[in-house]
Parts: sequence; structure tokens; C-alpha cells
Amino acid sequence: MLVCPSCATGHEDGERFCERCGVPLVEADPVAPPESEHRERARKIRPQYSEGPLVKVVGARNQSEAELLQGILIEEGVPSLVRRSGGFDVPDFLAAGPRDILVPASGADAAREILQLPEPQPGIDMRPGEGTPAWVKALAVALIVVILALIAAGVYAAVF
Ligand SMILES: [Zn+2]
Repeated sequence: MLVCPSCATGHEDGERFCERCGVPLVEADPVAPPESEHRERARKIRPQYSEGPLVKVVGARNQSEAELLQGILIEEGVPSLVRRSGGFDVPDFLAAGPRDILVPASGADAAREILQLPEPQPGIDMRPGEGTPAWVKALAVALIVVILALIAAGVYAAVF
């Protein structure tokens, strides 16, 4: 068995060059096993997408659809976990039944972008300060200054 050192395509004995790359073929090394799928996946995971608690980003109709979505995500470096959706009492060995795709919180935004899902509903998870117009903040600061000035004036009037 001969393989291309560039694209790893196997070729029949007797051929000398890869028909895809034109690279001279080498003997396949039966000792070194090909990188397992698991290791291959682990290698692709980006650390910045693997932090935080698992959150559900999307549902799938069945196991194979879930695995397809998982494959898309891992290609972009987002690790994910497939979990059987709650409320569907289907025996575990069956591939049927809806699934939830969960990803680490730090990878959730990337996952939604990759899968082109709508952003989470605005207003529900709004961080404090976001969406507050600058003039509202300026007004609040001005009010605090006025109140402090009035208190100071009151203290001044009381003492003197
Ligand atoms: Zn090749």
C-alpha cells in the first residue's frame, strides 16, 4: 500500500505519484496508526471556546442531525455535547428523538454565528449599562451633584 505524504490518499502498488497532488508516493507505515477521530477533534478545539458552563445553543431532530451540527461546530473549534432533549421518553439506544446541542458558555456566541442562529432575545440578558443613552447617565450624575450640593448647603446653614 502506497500513500501520498501530502494528502494521505491511498494508491495501488505500482503507481509512483499521487494523482491529485503529483507528489511521489511513500510506503504506508502500518506501525503508526492514523490519528484517531477523538484526538483529531481534541486538536481542533480552541481553548477560548471551551470555558464556562454548558449552555444549549440549538436543538436537533435526531442523533444524526445532532452529530452533523457537532461536526460543523468542531470544524470551527467549538467543542459541543449532544444531550437527549428532556421530556421525550425514547430508549437510549435509539437514534430517534430530539437532541440538545450544548457548548461551553464562552463558545456559545461563536456557535450561534457558525450555525447562523438568531441572537438571544435582547432585553432578557442585557448587561447593566448597555442600552442606556449617555444623556441619561449625564443627567443622573448631574442630579447626584445637585443633591450633594443641597446637603452641603444644609449642613453649612445648620452649623454656621
Ligand atoms: Zn496527494
